Amino acid sequence: MLTFHGKSVFGGIAIGKIYVYQKDNRLIKREKITDPESEIARFQKARKEAVEQLGELYQSSLRKIGKSEAAIFEVHQMMLEDLDYVQSIENIIEGQKVNAEYAVATTADNYACMFASMDDAYMKERAADVKDVSERVINVLMGNKDSSPEMTEPVIIVAEDLAPSETVQLDKDKVLAFVTRLGSSNSHTAILARTMGIPALIGVDADFKKLHGKLGVVDGFKGVFYTEPEESVLQELEEKKRQEEEKKNLLLSLKGKANVTLDGREIKLYANIGNIKDLALVKQNDASGIGLFRSEFLYLEKDNYPSEEEQFQVYKTVAQSMAGKQVIIRTLDIGADKQADYFDIPQEENPAMGYRAIRICLDRPEIFKTQLRAIFRATVYGNLAIMYPMIISLDEVHQIQKLVAQVKDELKEQGIAYKDVEEGIMIETPAAVMMSGELAKEVDFFSIGTNDLTQYTLAIDRQNPKLDDLYDAKHPAVLKMIQMVVDNAHKAGIWVGICGELGADTDLTEEFLKMGIDELSVSPGKVLPVRKKIREINLDKK
Ligand code: PEP
Ligand code: MG
Repeated sequence: MLTFHGKSVFGGIAIGKIYVYQKDNRLIKREKITDPESEIARFQKARKEAVEQLGELYQSSLRKIGKSEAAIFEVHQMMLEDLDYVQSIENIIEGQKVNAEYAVATTADNYACMFASMDDAYMKERAADVKDVSERVINVLMGNKDSSPEMTEPVIIVAEDLAPSETVQLDKDKVLAFVTRLGSSNSHTAILARTMGIPALIGVDADFKKLHGKLGVVDGFKGVFYTEPEESVLQELEEKKRQEEEKKNLLLSLKGKANVTLDGREIKLYANIGNIKDLALVKQNDASGIGLFRSEFLYLEKDNYPSEEEQFQVYKTVAQSMAGKQVIIRTLDIGADKQADYFDIPQEENPAMGYRAIRICLDRPEIFKTQLRAIFRATVYGNLAIMYPMIISLDEVHQIQKLVAQVKDELKEQGIAYKDVEEGIMIETPAAVMMSGELAKEVDFFSIGTNDLTQYTLAIDRQNPKLDDLYDAKHPAVLKMIQMVVDNAHKAGIWVGICGELGADTDLTEEFLKMGIDELSVSPGKVLPVRKKIREINLDKK
C-alpha cells in the first residue's frame, strides 16, 4: 500500500481502479525513420489492435448501455477500416519517412478539419470521432495498450493536471474521483468536480505512470489517496463510504421542502451548472432554479464556435426541463483558464486580468450576438434570465444594452418569438462593487461571483497552487464588499445573490441572510446541506 497526501477540493470516498489520464495535447514528435515498410507494418498492427479493442468495447457496451448507444463503437471500427484514412497515413509514412504516431496525428487533424467545415451537422460531429479513433491507435503505438477500455467502468482519474476543457469532456458516469499533481482549489476544474459532486484531490505528488490499473482509494475528507490499500484500510473506508451514503439519504428527506428560516424568511436556493448533463444533478438535489449556467463550457466542448442553432437547442432544453423554474444563463466567460484554441487568444502575461469574458464579447460582437440570439429564441420555452460576467463599468452595460436591442429588433423583423427577461450582471470585480450603486439602476439583479471577486480583491491568482492557502474568500474585505453590494442593490429595488463557491459555505449562511442576500446559487450537491442550514436559522433570535 502507498499513501499520498493532497488537498481536498471536494469530500467523499471513492474506491476503484486507477486510470492514468494522458493529456490530449501530449507532444507527438515528428521523427525521421529509415525503414518505411516496417513503420507501416507497425501502424497496421496498432490499427488492428485498436479495431479489436473497439470490438470488445462494443460487446461490453451492448450489455451495459444498449444497442443504439453501443453502435458508435461499430462506427469507430469502420473509420479505422476506411481505405482513404489508412492510405493517407501510409502515404505520410512513406512519402515523408516519418514515424507512425506523427502520420496518424496529422491525418486525424486533416480529417477533423475537413469534417468540421462541412455544413451537415451529422458530418461535423464526425470530427470528434476521427480524433477519438486516431487517439486510440496512437495510444497503442505508444504502448498504453489498455488505457481506453478501462474507461468502460467507473475509475479514479489520476493526472498531472486537468484543463476545464478536458474535464468537461470526461464521461461523468465513469469518473469516481479526480487526483491531480497540479491545480488549485479555486480553478474551474475544481469547481467542475464540485458540480459533479465527486471526491477530488489536488497537489498529490506521486509517480502516476506506475499506478495505472491498480486499485485506489480516495479519502476526499482527509485529502488522502491510497493505492493497493491494505485490507484494514479498505474496510475502514468502505464503512465511511456507507455512512456517507446514509447521511446523503437523510438529506434527501429535505427534498420538496422550502428554503425558509425558522422565523419565516424565504430565499432562493439555486444550483450552478456547466453543462446540460448537470440537469440530472439539479433535479436530484431539488434546486429551485439554476442561478449560474456557465455557458462557456458549451464552447469548450467544441473544436469550433457552436452555431446559433446548436446553442438554441441547449438553452431550450434547459429551459423546458426546468419547467417554469428560473434558469440564469451567464453569457460566454471564456479566457484565463478556460481556453478554446479556435478563439486564437494570444498568449498573455496575466490572463486572469486579460482578454476575457465580456471584453471578448464586446470586441467581437458577432460571437456575442450569436449567443444572445440563441438565448432570446429560447426565452419562450421557460423562465430564462441572462447575466453578463466580469463587468467593470457602466459603459460596458450600455454597450450590452445596445447589442441586446439590436438582437431583439432583428428577431422581431424576422418574425421570431422571444420574451423580455430579467437581465443582470455578475459582481466579481472590485470596480463593479464600487460602482454597484450606479450599476443597480441599469439592471434587474446582481449575482456576486466571489471566486473572481476574491482573486481581484486580494490580488491572488485563483489558479496559483502556491497561493491556495492565502486565497481566503472569507476575508473581511470580501465580506464588506458583499454587504455594500447588497445595500446598493436593495436601495435600487433589485435582488442580489451569490453564485461563487463561498455561497455554499454553511458557516456563513446565517451571515449572508443577515446581510440581506436574496439568493444563493451553489453546486448541485450543496443544495440540500444549505437548505438544511437555512431551515435551522432563526433570524429573530439574538
Ligand atoms: C465567480 O467568479 O465567482 C464565478 C461564479 O464565476 P467563475 O467561477 O465561473 O469565474
Ligand atoms: Mg468569475
